[in-house]
Amino acid sequence: MIVNIGSLNIDYVYDVESFVRKGQTISSTRRSVFAGGKGLNQSIALGRAGADVAHAGLVGDEGAFLRDLMLESGVDVSRVGTAEGHSNGHAIIQRDSEGDNCIILHGGSNRLIGAGLIDTTLLAFKPEDWVLLQNETSCVSNAIEGAHARGMKVVLNPSPVNDALLACPLELVDCFILNEGEAAAIAGIDGAADELLAAMLDRFPDAEIVLTVGADGAYYARKGGEPIFQPAFAVDAVDTTAAGDTFTGYYLAERAAGSDPSRALLVASAASSIAVSRPGAAPSIPLRREVEAKLAGLGLA
Ligand code: ATP
Repeated sequence: MIVNIGSLNIDYVYDVESFVRKGQTISSTRRSVFAGGKGLNQSIALGRAGADVAHAGLVGDEGAFLRDLMLESGVDVSRVGTAEGHSNGHAIIQRDSEGDNCIILHGGSNRLIGAGLIDTTLLAFKPEDWVLLQNETSCVSNAIEGAHARGMKVVLNPSPVNDALLACPLELVDCFILNEGEAAAIAGIDGAADELLAAMLDRFPDAEIVLTVGADGAYYARKGGEPIFQPAFAVDAVDTTAAGDTFTGYYLAERAAGSDPSRALLVASAASSIAVSRPGAAPSIPLRREVEAKLAGLGLA
């Protein structure tokens, strides 16, 4: 069983001719509303991958549809509470005529997760269960400490990296799934993938490191072994949003089901290559049977 204590966001996208400037009032030509948040995307990826997954978190008054979306993908949402009287975590996004973005983030309900909710959640799970975390919610430190103390495996997608994240007890993390920018910020060096992996392992010798390098592929490394590299699948990318979230969900679903790191990298790469070939975030995350069909088509089933 996997419990993802993570963010649940709403993205409000406003189409504008050009971004609003200081003192100016402009009208938007269209508003679109999307489900978002790394937590939500990763739970949906886990659910569509067929994992036994529960999401724990908080929605605001207007966030009930986020719960329904996860439920439709097979996620147990019984631990998603409502922060009554508070707004849901959301992003206000201006999209100009050239497709560029300007974003205001409001943590809302995601920042109201407290130590109490984390403790109650963890108590409902067993030491053999896994905890997945990102850094878009409050009390990440409590979650790492609490899960580790309970003997659960802690998987962290350290995104975004900020001072609060760097102050967490990262040495208690069992597996990091991160991109090059995040690895560079945590390890404190700039360098090629092999240097980033070495620096992460020097700093966290007991952890497994899964490093994604976009259209190039992904690596797995642990102390004392040769790194494993899985090239990305060649596809026509139309929208890379949620590539990393799809990868994280499928990778963890595979590991929790007993696959070795090579197989988990292969399946996660196939899944994220499908996600980048479709528009959108959560809607682009493939179902398990689509991933299996892709692998079978390539003789990799
Ligand atoms: P994001 O924040 O956009 O979700 P990320 O930076 O966390 O992404 P990436 O390293 O960009 O994660 O991508 C994760 C995985 O998705 C890669 O390891 C790769 O397998 C796959 N992927 C990403 N971009 C492409 C692409 N253009 N073509 C095929 N696969 C891709």
